[in-house]
Amino acid sequence: MVSIVVSVVGTNALGFTLLDFPASVQVASGSYSKWDLDSTVPNLLSLSYSIDPTSFQSVSGAMAGIDSAFVSWAATTPGLTLTPAGYDPVFNTDANLVGTTGFEGPAGVGLGANVDVFMVPSAYTANFLGEHFEFNNPTVLASAFVHTFGNGEINTVDLYLNDSFTWATNGSNFDIETVVVHEIGHGLGLDHPDQAAANGAENYSPYTYDPGHPVSGVETLNSLYTGVNRALTDDEIGGILFMYIDEGTVTKGDLTLDGLVTSNDLQPFINTFFNQSAPLNLTEGRADFNDDDLITFNPDLQGFLNALGGGGGGSQPFAVVAPEPGSLVCLLIGGLFLASRPRRNS
Ligand SMILES: [Zn+2]
Repeated sequence: MVSIVVSVVGTNALGFTLLDFPASVQVASGSYSKWDLDSTVPNLLSLSYSIDPTSFQSVSGAMAGIDSAFVSWAATTPGLTLTPAGYDPVFNTDANLVGTTGFEGPAGVGLGANVDVFMVPSAYTANFLGEHFEFNNPTVLASAFVHTFGNGEINTVDLYLNDSFTWATNGSNFDIETVVVHEIGHGLGLDHPDQAAANGAENYSPYTYDPGHPVSGVETLNSLYTGVNRALTDDEIGGILFMYIDEGTVTKGDLTLDGLVTSNDLQPFINTFFNQSAPLNLTEGRADFNDDDLITFNPDLQGFLNALGGGGGGSQPFAVVAPEPGSLVCLLIGGLFLASRPRRNS
């Protein structure tokens, strides 16, 4: 049983890597590409997207499949909102970026959203930031053009699907939702984990953000199409949390994944404490304040309460400074003072 669990973790724990493969020293200093954030707390990333409907006319159900891809990201990724915007055949300002030609879709067409999705013919070419792109390459299903300002902040994203392939929405090749889910990941700041090492970059744990995670090649952001793969994993979601919610460091005590430690995190903390069979997930590591892979009354609950109250509770263990839900009372009187539970099933 243990070996199976370890095997599963090893297979799926691919981690995430960031756009354009920044070196670990760059990542550590926050020097990587991402969308700018609203200055309000908690951190929220809210983007619009738009689809050029005319370019997808030949693929039945394409619009719904693409919408579903955006919904998957928004539904599973805390802090991320993706709002559909109507088609607007007018260039938006980013279409006139200096040094770009043909950017923002086929000539004469442009959409006004943060992320725009097009199908382009194999004859389509684009000059983007000094590089020439052609879609007559028979191995390139799609490309994400991510424009950033000089400081790395993402300004606008276009996702281009290659019309020279046969696209489908019924689960056969090539599955349009699978490919768009992947490309959205680039548009949000993620890159291919299976290529990270070859580019001098690291894969990071979605749970601890530690570098050096192994790669097996089954991840949604893997560079190769291997069939229908529409679901996001902890790896992609952890990457978004890293960039936009935690900004580089796991926020201990934030079990609701909103970037804050509040009384709302108490119940999930208690659930984690008691749920002996819970698999490793995005929240458990946040309850493990001292990173010993055990969720213990002390120091982990104490750490949580300190984080909740802003610290200073060391001499008065378990002094609750927030409204005290009944479930915490149960925990305190349950005789579990020295109880601990393994964070992993090993
Ligand atoms: Zn890709």
